[in-house]
Amino acid sequence: MIRDIERFERTPYDLLVIGGGINGAAIAHLAARRGMKVALLEKGDFASGTSSKSTKLIHGGIRYLENLEIDLVYESLKERYIQLEAAPHLVKPLPFVIPVYEGDKRPLWMMQFGVFLYDLLAGRFRVKPRKNLTRDEVLRLEPGIEPQGLKGGVLYYDAQMDDARLCLENVLMAAEYGAHVANYVKAVSFVKENGRAAGVRACDLRSIKEFEVRAKRVICAVGPWTNELLRLDIPSAKKRVRTTKGVHIVSRGEISKHAMLIGSQSDRRIFFIIPWMGNSLIGTTDTDSIAGPDDVKVEQKDIDYLMHESRRVFPSLDLGPEKIMATFAGLRPLVRKGGSAGKVSRRHLFYEAPSGVIFVVGGKYTTYRKVAEDCVNQVFGKGTGFFFAKKDAGPPCFSVYGSGAITESAEAAAARSGLETKVAQSLMDLYGTRYKDVLALAQKDPALKEKVSENPPVIKAQLVYSVQTEMARTVEDITDRRLSLVFRGPISAQTLAAIAGVLGTQS
Ligand SMILES: Cc1cc2nc3c(=O)[nH]c(=O)nc-3n(C[C@H](O)[C@H](O)[C@H](O)COP(=O)(O)OP(=O)(O)OC[C@H]3O[C@@H](n4cnc5c(N)ncnc54)[C@H](O)[C@@H]3O)c2cc1C
Repeated sequence: MIRDIERFERTPYDLLVIGGGINGAAIAHLAARRGMKVALLEKGDFASGTSSKSTKLIHGGIRYLENLEIDLVYESLKERYIQLEAAPHLVKPLPFVIPVYEGDKRPLWMMQFGVFLYDLLAGRFRVKPRKNLTRDEVLRLEPGIEPQGLKGGVLYYDAQMDDARLCLENVLMAAEYGAHVANYVKAVSFVKENGRAAGVRACDLRSIKEFEVRAKRVICAVGPWTNELLRLDIPSAKKRVRTTKGVHIVSRGEISKHAMLIGSQSDRRIFFIIPWMGNSLIGTTDTDSIAGPDDVKVEQKDIDYLMHESRRVFPSLDLGPEKIMATFAGLRPLVRKGGSAGKVSRRHLFYEAPSGVIFVVGGKYTTYRKVAEDCVNQVFGKGTGFFFAKKDAGPPCFSVYGSGAITESAEAAAARSGLETKVAQSLMDLYGTRYKDVLALAQKDPALKEKVSENPPVIKAQLVYSVQTEMARTVEDITDRRLSLVFRGPISAQTLAAIAGVLGTQS
């Protein structure tokens, strides 16, 4: 890091981005692509904040139709299409079933009309056509659900993503375009000249060394930490972000074949049960949070709510403690407004403080590219060349680190590198076109072909790649965000020892 610190101190940046969640990562990526000299600082690991705690959906947000946020839904559906095209290794179509029961707050006709409108709005950005389902069809698709009181349902399509990796791939793309990026570096105060922000004092949290980073413009994309950074700029600053807590449970095994969108009967909320890496993701809650973003915790009442509502639809579901593999909580950084937590808009806006610091407020993961584009346009004027409309005025071109077509089969890649086909396939699934970089490491040093995990298959080269290229610094950086092992099942002592060993020699 010492070398990095000198680099940060020496460079006069056009733009300094604070926060390495999805919004900061994408702003740095887009600005660097436009030729700006960019620095990106993240106090934890990239995506360690809200951007790895989401429901992992790239979606229009069917429920925002109820709030008549038609433009937000349309924009999100278009972004969904862009992400499906740009990062097919990380963003994949996902079929959803909505079962509707007697006594549900939203009757069957309303759900069917909502999905009809959703598909209509998507137009040519639609993933696949929806289908109204009779009671029997719902039961045929999902035999495990409660038949009593079931009225019918709807089948429709949205998209699922690996949130932590999509964020990381934006960071890596920023770096590829020349941005200087660092994790575990915290912005501790603003440097000001004549009342205007000229950079920050930053602290490398690993060496506890402080240094200065100077830039023409400073953008804070710190999600739920926004109020904190606002007060670092002006101690009396008004809060601009409302934080609401969302909790998820990861349950062992797949509860359903499709993602399920379920209307809660205890309140008007909807929540999801989603197949996720061979297991199930159940969530989420939506309650105002008093705890700060560094202290947000899963509480028993959050788990009880999700379990109660899930068991109502899947009565034979065993959600005992031994079935729960993981729980996690995140804070939604929403534009500060009154009303119930679930009703607050997911729109984004930018606030420019008198010091010139720009704060990104609100938004949802799905619209991150648009947030970045709007932000960079606002700060530096419209760019040219990189985010241009296609000839048919379709969506803008966009790519992340592993984007592009994979031109060989997993079998061929496995044969030429002396690995099992399932290992080659898993590398393609995780890294997109960059699987070749991992294979190249293994070819240079055959010892790196050693498997350190069976399910999912992981070879030692991936651990080295996580550290050398993907900037992993801790065991959790690798288990939680580079390889998502926490979602797969118990991590063996052998795997953990291999990770610790590589971290010890490489970092
Ligand atoms: C439970 C839940 C479910 C969600 N599900 C979805 C979904 O399915 N689909 C969807 O589209 N959206 C979803 N969202 C919304 C989405 O996750 C967020 O809008 C998005 O991740 C916010 O990204 P961000 O970059 O603004 O914030 P974050 O990801 O929180 O990033 C901010 C970063 O700033 C860093 N930081 C803070 N202070 C400093 C400092 N002083 N110096 C340096 N770095 C600092 C933090 O460490 C953090 O990593 C969900 C949100 C929640 C909470």
